[in-house]
Amino acid sequence: MNGMSSTAATLLREDLRDFAGYKSARSGVALSGDAWLNANESPSVSPADAAGALRRYPDPQPQALRNALASLYGVDAAQLLATRGSDEGIDLLLRAFCAPGQGAIVIAPPVFGMYAVCARLHGARVVDVPAQDVDGSWRSDLAAMADAALREGANLVFVCNPGNPTGEAVAEGEIERLAQRLRGKALVVVDAAYAEFADTDAAAALLAGNDNLVILRTLSKAHALAGARIGSVLASPELIGMLQRCQAPYPLAQPAVAAALAALAPAALAHARAAATQARAERERLRAGLLGAAGVRRVYPSQGNFLLARFIDAQAAFDALLDAGVVVRDMRATAGLGDALRISIGTPAQNDRVLAVLADARQAA
Ligand SMILES: *Cc1c(COP(=O)(O)O)cnc(C)c1O
Repeated sequence: MNGMSSTAATLLREDLRDFAGYKSARSGVALSGDAWLNANESPSVSPADAAGALRRYPDPQPQALRNALASLYGVDAAQLLATRGSDEGIDLLLRAFCAPGQGAIVIAPPVFGMYAVCARLHGARVVDVPAQDVDGSWRSDLAAMADAALREGANLVFVCNPGNPTGEAVAEGEIERLAQRLRGKALVVVDAAYAEFADTDAAAALLAGNDNLVILRTLSKAHALAGARIGSVLASPELIGMLQRCQAPYPLAQPAVAAALAALAPAALAHARAAATQARAERERLRAGLLGAAGVRRVYPSQGNFLLARFIDAQAAFDALLDAGVVVRDMRATAGLGDALRISIGTPAQNDRVLAVLADARQAA
């Protein structure tokens, strides 16, 4: 950037420019000693924790975890912040880059609800640039999102890619153009929670040339670790440092870190890749089956591990599935999705049940 300041430095909340964050007993220089009496921890082990793994506060950013996640996502460890799920990443971005009660974000609904929830909690405005349902598939208008961001002075533009619940894939070139247009003016946050299920696993390569690009990843979906709450923010080292100063002192519980490290071992990664491959195949099989069911009006193409479908009678389909013990996501309260359900891809047997029910429901509907 030849002496110009980075987008992150330009966009960081002005009142946080000299903010150092909380200095915990675990942050700062490495101390040596064998009697650690600096954090008011108990000297005795709990009977509930026979191995004594939980007696101490955890490392805020365990280097082994950071390294393993960084290698998984193809970035340097300094470009990655491990978070309590991507939900925490979203919240940190709002808090670091939107002044309370003043900032704004741009989103393309229908989209994952947490962007608007975090914005609302923080007093940031939400600028909607709705995605369009064109010829049976969803399209976010990134040029219109850039226009809106510039017009409204938005701090963050969220691009959910692949889109939840739309299943949309946004081309990498479009993301790059968006980032370039907003350089120095706004951060572009690509939420890649479902990237493992997509044809192309986007965007990490774009970080190098775009200092206003942020990517969110998670172990919750393809790595089957939703209960551990482990997400990652990928961005420039400078931006990562800013987020870390806003983060809770001990965001990652020790059992979650242990589970994540186990899930990042080679055999577990191979298992996750195989499971994602199967989910993709099952997604296309289920989509083909649903397209043939008479009560189904439309099934959108999807790059995620779910399908969004419109029904002639969504209530009847929802009820029939529920009667058969199959719980799907009712999307009808979402604007523009008044006849839609979102169905996660399950095991082949579970997907068969969905198809069997909806083939039957045709008679009832
Ligand atoms: C499921 C999901 C996430 C994951 O959130 P975690 O907090 O990491 O579990 C993030 N973004 C989108 C769009 C999702 O659907």
